Amino acid sequence: MKLIFLGPPGAGKGTIATRLAEDEGIPHISTGDIFRENIRNETELGKKVKAILDSGDLVPDELTVELVKDRVSQPDAAAGFVLDGFPRTVPQADALAEFAPVDKVLNFVLDEDEIIRRLSGRRVHKPSGRTYHVLFSPPNEEGKDDVTGEELIIRDDDKPEAIKNRLAVYEKQTAPLIEYYRSRGLLVDIDSAPKPEEVYASVRKELGLA
Ligand code: ADP
Ligand code: ADP
Repeated sequence: MKLIFLGPPGAGKGTIATRLAEDEGIPHISTGDIFRENIRNETELGKKVKAILDSGDLVPDELTVELVKDRVSQPDAAAGFVLDGFPRTVPQADALAEFAPVDKVLNFVLDEDEIIRRLSGRRVHKPSGRTYHVLFSPPNEEGKDDVTGEELIIRDDDKPEAIKNRLAVYEKQTAPLIEYYRSRGLLVDIDSAPKPEEVYASVRKELGLA
C-alpha cells in the first residue's frame, strides 16, 4: 500500500497518517518531520533549511526529492508507506512517479477558516512529533506531552504571518497536484472536517480496510 496524503497544511494529514501507519505497520514518511528533526539536530541539511521552514516557503525540489528517494528505498518501506507532505510540486510528483509509483492519493479537503483554526491551536512535542490541539485534542495536562510530560511548543511556522504564506504557497505550488493525480485516476477526496475518528474511518473505508 503506497500512499500519498495530499492537502493543505493543517488539514489533519499527520494525525491520520500516524494512526494508519501504526495500524498497518508501514512507515509514515513526513518530509516536514524529517526537516524539523535535522533542524533540531543542527545537521548540515538542518542549517540549510531552517530559514525556509520558518518562513513557510518550500525547500528546493532537488534537495527534497533526494531525501525522499533515499527514504523510500529503505527496507522498511518496501511493502508500503504513507507519504505525508510530499510531493508538494509538479516536479516532485514527476520524480516520484519514476522512483516509487503510488497506488492512491488521498486528498484531504478542508475550508480555509477551519484550516486556520487548526493551525493556530496546534501544539507539538518536538522530540516525538506528537501533535495536539488546544481545543480539539488537548493534552491531559496543559502544555505538556501525555507520554513524557515534556513541554509542548508552537511551531514557528504556525504563527500568523507564516500561516498566511503557507496557504498562498499551497494554492500556487501544491493545489495543481489535485488535477495532476485526478487525471491519472489516482485521487480520492476525503472530507477532513469531521472528528479525527470519523476521518480515520472514511480513510480505512476508501482503502478497503474497513
Ligand atoms: P504541515 O504539517 O503544516 O502541512 P509540514 O510539516 O508538512 O507542514 O511542512 C513544514 C515545512 O517543511 C513546509 O512549510 C516546507 O517549508 C517544508 N517542506 C515539507 N515538505 C516539503 C516538500 N515536499 N517540498 C518542499 N518543502 C517541504
Ligand atoms: P497536517 O499534518 O495536515 O498539517 P495535523 O494532523 O498536524 O495536520 O493537524 C493540524 C491540527 O489540527 C493539529 O493541532 C491537530 O491536533 C488538529 N486536528 C487534526 N485533525 C483534526 C480533526 N479531524 N478535527 C479537529 N482537529 C484536528
